[in-house]
Amino acid sequence: MKAETQSDFQSICCVDQAPGSRTSTPHVQPIYATSTFVYPPPEEAMEIFAELKERPHLYNRWGTPNTALVEQKLAALESHGLSENGKPLQLEAVLFSSGMAAVSSLFLSLGLTPGDHIVTQGNIYGTTTEFLDAMLAPIGVRIIYGDLHDMEWVEKQLRTHSPVRLIYLETPTNATARCYDIAQLARIAHTYGAKCAVDGTLGTPYLQQPFAHGADFVVHSATKFLNGHSNSLTGVVIGRDGAFVKTEVWKMRKLLGGCAGSFDAWLLNMGLKTLPLRMEQHCNNAMRVATALEGHSAIRRVRYLGLEEHPDHKVAARQMRAFGGVLSLEVAGGLEAAVRVLRNVRHCTVTATLGAMDTLIQHPATMTHVKVPREQREAHEITDGLLRLSVGIEDPETIIGDLRQALEAP
Ligand code: PLP
Repeated sequence: MKAETQSDFQSICCVDQAPGSRTSTPHVQPIYATSTFVYPPPEEAMEIFAELKERPHLYNRWGTPNTALVEQKLAALESHGLSENGKPLQLEAVLFSSGMAAVSSLFLSLGLTPGDHIVTQGNIYGTTTEFLDAMLAPIGVRIIYGDLHDMEWVEKQLRTHSPVRLIYLETPTNATARCYDIAQLARIAHTYGAKCAVDGTLGTPYLQQPFAHGADFVVHSATKFLNGHSNSLTGVVIGRDGAFVKTEVWKMRKLLGGCAGSFDAWLLNMGLKTLPLRMEQHCNNAMRVATALEGHSAIRRVRYLGLEEHPDHKVAARQMRAFGGVLSLEVAGGLEAAVRVLRNVRHCTVTATLGAMDTLIQHPATMTHVKVPREQREAHEITDGLLRLSVGIEDPETIIGDLRQALEAP
């Protein structure tokens, strides 16, 4: 890949490698709008089918040049600047049709059997919670939810339950803007023979690199900041054990069919080109908004990892380059007050996704986390008064002004 010779982070993001001839090589990778590929002579095709060494492009469910390019870029971004045993860290990535296709395929690739355990946090993304409860618990996999800040509790779970196959964390967390210590959790996982997987959607590899802290897998909903323009759904699983990712994780895409379409992968590639620039602006704006709203009489608590009083500020400062574009507001007055804000915002868009260029706001208790049992939600700060903000890259004064008027509306 051309970016490997100019391997700064931005170059990896923006330089495509598109095949062509000496006089007609496209600068931007074209969209491969084809469902299948013409096979080489039969003997060679048979060999490729039998061995599947290189994840060939034979049929789109198996992968396309568009999915392959973003897989290479995302693996290179996650490992950028990292080394292992004196050599550059090599990662493998598999692109899926959505974040949930990536998350569910990662779990299914582990070959979980009845009696296996997964330790995770009570405040992971609502649909991930629903997947664990609706799809894995009924086949006898025990899901242990708790507070992953409490290392004694975590270690006790791994000591007393056998086998724990995975510690699964989401950091920063979607709804509550909390942050977890990846290095400590990975260390505990490895001590007890478990793996550690991180949903790094809110951080992106620009802000945090979980593999630097010992993670075995990283998943992203690439629908969010990685794409950045709110125009395609994709997800990715990235792993340290390349052979496992290339066989077991990739097999889930082939068998379950959750492959990303060429156009969606292409849109992700377009978005990736500006990732560092966008993330800088998201982070700066989120800090401005958080600071401006702190102390507002209609707000009980602003949670932003960049604020020094945030309980996870120190962990975030250690493991992140900056503090991200997502913050949460706990409004005084519960559900009624939260709904009033949603009804009155004029500039901010009410929608459940995040990571777009403009500012988005949503109510986790009734939207993204509606399927999480109330007791579990409330024990993990997802209260009726919580609003989650994905701060965009507009002029921050526009965002602050809009939120103030919505908070103060009768
Ligand atoms: N993980 C996190 C942290 C998310 O916020 C989301 C979606 O909001 C997902 C996973 C699922 O991603 P997708 O909507 O692309 O399936």
